[in-house]
Amino acid sequence: MQGLMQDWPLTVDRALAHARALNPRREIVTRSVEGPIVRENYAQMWDRSKQLSHALGELGVTLGDRVATLAWNTARHMETWYGAMGIGAVVHTLNPRLHPEQLVWIVTHGGAETLFTDLTFLPLLEKIQDHLTLVKRFVVYADVLPATTLRNAVAYEKLIEGRPLDTPWGQFDEQTAAGLCYTSGTTGQPKGVLYSHRSNLLHAMAVNQGDAWGLRAKDCVLAVVPMFHANGWTLPFVAPMTGMKMVMPGAKLDPQSLYELIEAEGVTMAAGVPTIWAALVAYMQANKLKPRTLERVLVGGAAASENLVRAFEADFGIEVTHAWGMTEMSPGGTSGTLCPIMIERSHDERIRQKTRQGRALFTVEMRIADDDGAEVAHDGQTPGRLLVRGPAISKAYFRGEGARNPDGTVLEADGFFDTGDIATIDEAGYLHITDRAKDLIKSGGEWISSIEIENIVLGAPGVACAAVIGAKHPKWDERPLLLVEAKAGAAPARDALLAFLDGKIAKWWMPDDVVMVEKIPLGPTGKIDKLALRKQFGDYVLPGIGGN
Ligand code: AMP
Repeated sequence: MQGLMQDWPLTVDRALAHARALNPRREIVTRSVEGPIVRENYAQMWDRSKQLSHALGELGVTLGDRVATLAWNTARHMETWYGAMGIGAVVHTLNPRLHPEQLVWIVTHGGAETLFTDLTFLPLLEKIQDHLTLVKRFVVYADVLPATTLRNAVAYEKLIEGRPLDTPWGQFDEQTAAGLCYTSGTTGQPKGVLYSHRSNLLHAMAVNQGDAWGLRAKDCVLAVVPMFHANGWTLPFVAPMTGMKMVMPGAKLDPQSLYELIEAEGVTMAAGVPTIWAALVAYMQANKLKPRTLERVLVGGAAASENLVRAFEADFGIEVTHAWGMTEMSPGGTSGTLCPIMIERSHDERIRQKTRQGRALFTVEMRIADDDGAEVAHDGQTPGRLLVRGPAISKAYFRGEGARNPDGTVLEADGFFDTGDIATIDEAGYLHITDRAKDLIKSGGEWISSIEIENIVLGAPGVACAAVIGAKHPKWDERPLLLVEAKAGAAPARDALLAFLDGKIAKWWMPDDVVMVEKIPLGPTGKIDKLALRKQFGDYVLPGIGGN
């Protein structure tokens, strides 16, 4: 027997419609890429997004078409999400920190014909546009189009100006794709995570439960995490759903600019990766500053260190919510809020508890398994592969990349997704990420593909075998360390190896150091034994880092 409730598809336009109805005057404040602070409210954002929907319709963009954005966090970028998603187009967010070749590959694989961008990225796009063969037009976030060689370029404000508000939103299946975001592949090319309207809306409700983020209309959130990262941590949906004020930092993510925004706009909660927060803490300490309104920081994307948690909580009285997740999880998996028994513990114990990644959000099931897939105990001691399941977690990648099952899915037994993380879970359900099985390095919240660097180095003269691992770094968390086994009789020099890499990878992917080793250890299947290398070089001190 079916229930007799109304059929109300969970499409993301509902979030902005709700803000317009209930909190129309709450603001979205942007530090614009042009410089000045720009303000608009939810009612205006709804109008402008509707105008964009109309303009997209005139350009022929329709259900299922991809629309790409290479852009900072701004209100215009958020309007593009709503304007495109509202008509069932799929917003493909692009990470500007990628190597141009990788960017070209991702844009082409995504298939967008329209690309929205900020002034910042014009030189980059002008350089690569001949390779972006599918892109028919560029929309530049500006009042007036600057001088540019980009084909069919149009200024955003000119595109939406005077357009009617009559384009309907939603009215399609809630499983329709809404967003596309590529994640670094451990093998092969990056893979596209394809969010649906339903998964985005469910996820936005899940992360904002009282014991998770618990944000309310009276809050003011600073979205430092870029919208091109993992669905912008879902904040562009959570904010209008709750009606809270939203602050968008644009291109300026340095601590002084962030601090100014926090103070000027009365930010109560700010979300970003540990590298951003470590820089803010250092800035506040050096300048003897204490924010007036900031109550909470959401730290995720990489582990929050004890130093960071202690500095925020003890020195500044700012509560840390530590979260773990991944692009494939929309992205939230856990929230580090303390459960009732922990609130009574000592200050030090609570600080240490907050360096754990927290408990599963509602709609996320977690399992720890051994190599054969058998579940291991949740005793806080036994590590295993972390597997997850839920309605806002990927089952497959765009165009079937990386499939492990005949139906194109990547799931393991019982429909679980392997996160590539190694973890323990304790009796209270708290997750602790202890290692990473996936062969990637995370530096300042951004991935570096060790395999890609290794493959290039293998082409350098005198190299028999190469491995790249993450070495500890106080500012960036991890930096790549290149280990090289030379061919018999050869002695490739450090500088020659680095010069060989120069230009073939993004500058920030360049290894911080090169170490020649007698033999690179191999595992039973002949693959490089990264776990052994990470153990061996666990305390490696990179050049220029005294006493770390
Ligand atoms: P991404 O898909 O770029 O969001 O990266 C997801 C991966 O980042 C996870 O699988 C973890 O390896 C790592 N990660 C994310 N959050 C945390 C955290 N709080 N602690 C440790 N590692 C994390």
